[in-house]
Amino acid sequence: AAKDGGRGRHHFYAADLHSDAEERRQLEQDLRDALATGGLQLFYQPIVHTASETVAGFEALLRWQHPTRGWLSPAKFVPIAEDAGIIAQIGEWALRTACHDLASWPASVRVAVNVSPLQFANPALPAIITSAIAAAGVSPDQLELEITESVFLNDDEGTDAMFVALKRLGVRLALDDFGTGYSSLGYLQKAPFNKIKIDQSFVRGATAKGSANAAIIASIVRLAEALGMETTAEGVETLDELDLVRGLGCSHVQGYIYDKPLTAPEARERVSAGVKITADGPRSTRSVR
Ligand code: C2E
Ligand code: MG
Ligand code: MG
Ligand code: MG
Repeated sequence: AAKDGGRGRHHFYAADLHSDAEERRQLEQDLRDALATGGLQLFYQPIVHTASETVAGFEALLRWQHPTRGWLSPAKFVPIAEDAGIIAQIGEWALRTACHDLASWPASVRVAVNVSPLQFANPALPAIITSAIAAAGVSPDQLELEITESVFLNDDEGTDAMFVALKRLGVRLALDDFGTGYSSLGYLQKAPFNKIKIDQSFVRGATAKGSANAAIIASIVRLAEALGMETTAEGVETLDELDLVRGLGCSHVQGYIYDKPLTAPEARERVSAGVKITADGPRSTRSVR
């Protein structure tokens, strides 16, 4: 096979590209169908208050059970939805569903919803949020929007105006996947975030001897505290990682050490029991979560 060299390879790649495009088109159509027929679901992963070990809230995470391929990760289908121009509809559905589910939890519990940069660039977003909050009868400060640094890539008056409008609504804002993007620290002082979410890539390996990650987490926590923001350590899986991020002062922890993302009824049970959540090691739950 090595002998037919360049030409064979070229054909191989061409066929590959073709089937990739085909696959994407098919997934795009399937995703439209799923949106229309109720095939999307939200799962809820507890965000635990470090000091009290109680559930402060949940992050809503999209799940899609594809009719033939099984569960697909949002990391795979959200980019397809963005390209296909349907992330706005999916995002609106997620906001409405999360607010609806939030209404059945105690008022002290929050829900965090991921917002795509494309939704953030849509001037209609504040009106959509207002409508979702009103329909569910929840308080705006129970809703937290998770935004990534990529919204600052096309930093313009639109970006500033959106922050002002969202703050005026009274919703909370979290900066997601902090430290993984390209932006500078300057936006931290200009954008009114309530929380920084420390990406799991910093947590992973932070307990290893000689790792720089613990120092990075410590400096993010200090920065957040100086700016009056909370911090959530993402992707905490082991007791060692939990001890470390607690020791470094993260105000909140999210990760498999406590829970994988739960169904809405499971999430409701979790809070209505009012239980203290104690880390007892990773739970063996279905791999879809
Ligand atoms: P994210 O917002 O950073 O969400 C955290 C991801 O980490 C989730 O992956 C969650 O399941 C996973 N995770 C939580 N704890 C652990 C842990 O202890 N270990 C490991 N290995 N992973 C953990 P998920 O659910 O696959 O979502 C991936 C990404 O897809 C999210 O990253 C978010 O960027 C995006 N996404 C999910 N739902 C939505 C949505 O409704 N709208 C938009 N625009 N994006 C979404
Ligand atoms: Mg998130
Ligand atoms: Mg994140
Ligand atoms: Mg992430």
